[in-house]
Amino acid sequence: MKIICVGMNYASHNKEMLHSLLLSEPTVFLKPDSSLLKDGKPFFIPDFTSEMHYETEIVVKIDRLGKNIAEKFAPRYYREITVGIDFTARDLQRKLRNDGMPWEISKAFDCSAAIGDFVPLEIIGQDIGHIPFHLNMNGTKVQEGNTQNMIFKVDEIIAYVSRFFTLKIGDLIFTGTPAGVGRVEVNDHLQGFIGERKMLDFFVR
Ligand code: MG
Repeated sequence: MKIICVGMNYASHNKEMLHSLLLSEPTVFLKPDSSLLKDGKPFFIPDFTSEMHYETEIVVKIDRLGKNIAEKFAPRYYREITVGIDFTARDLQRKLRNDGMPWEISKAFDCSAAIGDFVPLEIIGQDIGHIPFHLNMNGTKVQEGNTQNMIFKVDEIIAYVSRFFTLKIGDLIFTGTPAGVGRVEVNDHLQGFIGERKMLDFFVR
């Protein structure tokens, strides 16, 4: 099982990060299975960063084997989504970027891919292109987005990444974060929502 992530997929987030580049293709990176954090387990801030950020994202679960998937057939390859947190050691990522190094150690470390409970799209009652989601931290809304504002839509992402990686049942795709990323501290309570439906609920320790 692998976790495929798309970076810089919302213009509002790219603006807050001061990235001005116009992207012609998705920015893709991977997290290993050891990065998965689920079932409401706590997230422990690792010792190699002093600037741990949450990035709230819609996560799509692949439920069919595929390679070189055409965009128009991409909806056949997923049925369930959730909210996830792409934890990012921002200070480390900044250093790696400046040094021209790959991102992995700042984004793919243990427990850096928190996921909520998956729910079928038909239960949410909305198409994948219009999913509102948000994150509450300690009861206050700190980040919100809607999949309609993605630069590369879910089906485009699936078509693109499946040119390079065979998609397997159970693979996850983190689809990028909107504006509003921020720091987490010990004892913060994170709750992720799709619409008003709570999908994700855990503490930072
Ligand atoms: Mg992200």
